[in-house]
Amino acid sequence: MAATRLVLLVALVATSAWELPPSLRMATAAQAVEQAAAAVAIHALRPLVGSAGDLGRRGGVSCDSWRLAVEAHNKRDWRTVPADCEGYVGHYMLGGHYRRDSRVVVDEAIAYAEGLKLGGGGKEVWVFDIDETSLSNLPYYATHGFGTKPYNATSFNEYVVEGSAPALPETQRLFRKLIALGIKPVFLTGRTEDQRAITVANLRRQGYSGWDKLLLKPVGFKATAIAYKSGERRKLQDAGYVIVGNIGDQWSDILGAPEGARTFKLPDPMYYIG
Ligand SMILES: [Mg+2]
Repeated sequence: MAATRLVLLVALVATSAWELPPSLRMATAAQAVEQAAAAVAIHALRPLVGSAGDLGRRGGVSCDSWRLAVEAHNKRDWRTVPADCEGYVGHYMLGGHYRRDSRVVVDEAIAYAEGLKLGGGGKEVWVFDIDETSLSNLPYYATHGFGTKPYNATSFNEYVVEGSAPALPETQRLFRKLIALGIKPVFLTGRTEDQRAITVANLRRQGYSGWDKLLLKPVGFKATAIAYKSGERRKLQDAGYVIVGNIGDQWSDILGAPEGARTFKLPDPMYYIG
């Protein structure tokens, strides 16, 4: 059953449809009717459906407020998505909202990159995170509660070694644009060195090519994500590279000097890495 569902979701994501699974669609339709009736009775301008309205409130938890607090980094060090928000996060991730939010981030990043004056020495780089930035693990999370269950390294790594994660199309658009502009992409990931081969294979399968470096964490390396990633960026800078941009889905991707001349935060309401 789980395998069947996974295949379905992989197919949806791989074709960039990113649509709701039928179970979620039916829930939306039923709630839409209820919401529409209530909205007309209460206030003509009240949102009828969607995550901006009361659809985000389940069991006393305002999931849209929770998500905003997560994205703004007001909420930190959280372990799991509130159980009552599984449906909300599922709708957000698969229903189009996530893609729209990502698109705005990438549009801004491209506008910024297009305005840069490059030095001509080919030293400008842009740092890309991998998971939930360049590649999407949504097929995994969609079958593991959309972040409502505690992180399971064993099952997640089994998914990673399949090398089947789809690209995030918005990030790929930025990646290709930067190469066309003469800015070199550098992948910097919390994935470990022993996952290099499968990570390269996954990236290539998804159409990524032309990156300058792929920096993975040494196996057994103990440091926070901020310390590890900022240390790697420092090494780049000391080697003469100019980090003109840095994009990731976690605050730990973009905090810690040298952050890069400008940082971009993609949405991720499914997990937190400190
Ligand atoms: Mg990430």
